[in-house]
This record gives sequence, C-alpha cells and structure tokens, in this order.
Amino acid sequence: MREATVLRARMLSPQVRELTLDPGAGHTFVPGHWVTLYLDREGDEPLKRQYSIASAPRADGTFDIAVTLVPCGPMSTFLHEAKVGARIRMMDAQGLFVLEPMERPLLFVATGTGIAPFRAMLQEIDKKAHAGTPLIMLFGCRSEEDLLYRDELEALAARWPRFRYLPTLSRPHDGWSLRRGWVQSHLPELIAELGTDVDVYVCGLTKMVKDVRRICREELGVDRKRVHVERYD
Ligand SMILES: Cc1cc2nc3c(=O)[nH]c(=O)nc-3n(C[C@H](O)[C@H](O)[C@H](O)COP(=O)(O)OP(=O)(O)OC[C@H]3O[C@@H](n4cnc5c(N)ncnc54)[C@H](O)[C@@H]3O)c2cc1C
Repeated sequence: MREATVLRARMLSPQVRELTLDPGAGHTFVPGHWVTLYLDREGDEPLKRQYSIASAPRADGTFDIAVTLVPCGPMSTFLHEAKVGARIRMMDAQGLFVLEPMERPLLFVATGTGIAPFRAMLQEIDKKAHAGTPLIMLFGCRSEEDLLYRDELEALAARWPRFRYLPTLSRPHDGWSLRRGWVQSHLPELIAELGTDVDVYVCGLTKMVKDVRRICREELGVDRKRVHVERYD
C-alpha cells in the first residue's frame, strides 16, 4: 500500500476527468495494468475501486487515469472533486490485460474510459517504434464531445501509416461524416480487413465486451485465445 499525490487534473470531456498521479518511488507497471484506489468511510470498510493506467511508464514514475463520473458513484465523485495536492491511498499496479508479442494484426476495441489502457499501450508501441504491425483502434462513444484523446489519436494515425483510428458515435450530430452506431456493428468489416489471425483486445463495460467477444469468436471465426478482454463492471 502507498499514497499517491494528485499532480494535475483536467476534464477530457463533460463526464471524464483525467488525473495525473505521483505514486512515489519504486512503483512499476506495464501498459494495460490498473491500480486500486481507496476511499476511507466513517464507520465502514474503505471503498476500493480499480482504474486502468492511461499512460505508458514515464521516467518520473507519474501516470494518468481517466475517470467517468458515475451518477451517485462515491469513488468517481470523489475523484472528480479531488484537488491538486490531494493524497489517495493506492495499491500497486497489477493486471493481466497486457499486450502479447505483436505477431499478428491488432484490433483494439473500446468504449468510454475503456480507451485508457489502449492509450498506455499505444504510447508504449510508439516509444519502441514497433509501428509496422497493422493496428486499428475502434472507439465508440455517444457524441463528438466524448471522443477522449481524439487529438492524440489522430496525430498518431497521421504519423503511423499502418495505424487507423476509427471513432464511431451512437448519437452523432448532423454534420458527423465518420462511423455511426455501436462498435459491434463494425466488427465484420474490420475482421475481414485484418484477417481472422488477429489479436483483438477489448475494454469497457460488460455488455459491450461480451458482445464483441461473442461476435469475434462465434460469428467471425477468431480463435478464442486471440480475444483478450478487460471489463469495468
Ligand atoms: C480492472 C478495472 C479497471 C477500471 N478502470 C476504469 C477506468 O480507467 N476509468 C473508469 O472510469 N472506471 C474504471 N473502472 C470502474 C471503476 O472501478 C468504478 O467501478 C467506477 O469508477 C464507479 O465507481 P463508483 O464508486 O463511483 O460508483 P459505483 O457506485 O461503484 O457504481 C457502479 C456503477 O458504475 C458503472 N460503471 C463503472 N465504471 C463505469 C465507467 N467507466 N463508465 C460508466 N459506468 C461505469 C457500473 O456499471 C455500475 O453500475 C475499472 C474497473 C475495473 C474492474
């Protein structure tokens, strides 16, 4: 157990706040890992919740998390209100949702703050210049203002010829000319493009994750071992 300090905070969208945390010396992680944060409550056990790390490891040990404000959710409300300088009890990073060796094309699928571990992975891939593997980031959210990290992802796509960033909106405004609908509806086309010998990584809320896993395995013929998932609820 350790205490992390809130170094910076900014809103990424109307519902999502990014916090940059300094966990102190000796904390290590790999992209895809999550941390457990604790909130003390009077007369009760501390509340604990997990948050995916949204940045690749940095020399100074700091990392980002991106938190969706859940209505009446105690931990997300606390994290949306936490001030710079606040100290938060934290358990070291852990998790199994990490990149396997990049031996086949990659399809990343996320909704909402499920994009967090993918931002960490993409930053890491970028650092190591492994950008030769075909890689698609399919990201679903409601409207344009919910497109977390849009500028960064578009900049990556402009730099990496083999990376495609495909946002899809379930409630687009009139002028939106890109993809529409849920991420699930785009899978047949994207698996046809990448081939069935593909590593699919999926992160977000359970309904979407289960749907994507089922469609990839049962309808599109992707080997069950090649579909990697992380669920937030
Ligand atoms: C491995 C792991 C990693 C996670 N990483 C993140 C993360 O990077 N960012 C993040 O915002 N949350 C993440 N979560 C969810 C987080 O741990 C909390 O469940 C969430 O912040 C709600 O906690 P709360 O105390 O505010 O609300 P609670 O009262 O616990 O509310 C629970 C409700 O919130 C819903 N919910 C949980 N997470 C989300 C979400 N992201 N978006 C919309 N609804 C949600 C659940 O369906 C459930 O109905 C992760 C969960 C796990 C298990």
